[in-house]
Amino acid sequence: MIEWIFPRFCVSCDAPLLPSEKEGACLKCLLELPKTDFWFFPCANEGYYRLAPHAPNLRGVVCGFWYGVGSPLRRWIQAAKYEGQPRLLYAAARHMAALSERYLPLSEIQGILPIPISALRWRKRGYNQAEWAARGFSEGWNIPLLSRHWVRRPSSGSQLGRKQTARWIELEGEFRCVRPLPSVVAVVDDVLTTGATLAAALRSLPASTAAWVLTVGITQRRR
Ligand SMILES: [Zn+2]
Repeated sequence: MIEWIFPRFCVSCDAPLLPSEKEGACLKCLLELPKTDFWFFPCANEGYYRLAPHAPNLRGVVCGFWYGVGSPLRRWIQAAKYEGQPRLLYAAARHMAALSERYLPLSEIQGILPIPISALRWRKRGYNQAEWAARGFSEGWNIPLLSRHWVRRPSSGSQLGRKQTARWIELEGEFRCVRPLPSVVAVVDDVLTTGATLAAALRSLPASTAAWVLTVGITQRRR
C-alpha cells in the first residue's frame, strides 16, 4: 500500500512545493499539460466519438489532457504505471477537476467508479492507477469513490502487438459489477486510447446505470 503522505518536492520536476501545491506536482508542471478543453463539449469530442457507438447509456466523455508525443503526461502515466509513482495521476486529476467543475453537471453524478485491474495485476503493482485518478475527482468534487463495486478477471496478456479486433472480442466478459450502483456514475481510467477497455467496462454496467467517462489523458488519432 502506498502511504498517503504529502510530498515536499514536485514529483515531476523536483522543484520544492509550496504549501498550496499539496497534490504532489507544482503548478508550473500542471500548467504545462496540454488541455483538451473537452469539458466545454462533453458530447461532441474525440473521446465521445470513440466510445459512443459501443457504449449504451453514455452521458458524456471528458478527457483532460492530450497524450501525444512531447506531452509531459506521457511520462507521468509511464511513472504511474511502471515506476510505482501514481501520485502524478492524482495531481493531474485534481487539476482537471478544478478546470472542469463549472462546466459539468456534477450534481447528477452519484459515485466515481475507477476501472478495476485484475487481482493478479494489483498484487504485482500494489495499486490501481485508475483509482488514484478517481480519487483526484472524488476529492476535488466531493463525490463518493466507489472502489469495491467492480471486478476484473485476469487479462489473457498484454494488448501490445495484438490485432485490434481480437482485443475487442477478448475483452467481452472481463468486467463484472459486484455491488449495486447508483443511477449515474462517472467511470474513470488513466488514458483513453482505442476505447476497447472502456467500452467493455461500460457494457458490463447494469442497464439502470448511466455513465460519464473521465480520463486524465487521451491519445491523438494517427494521421
Ligand atoms: Zn514541477
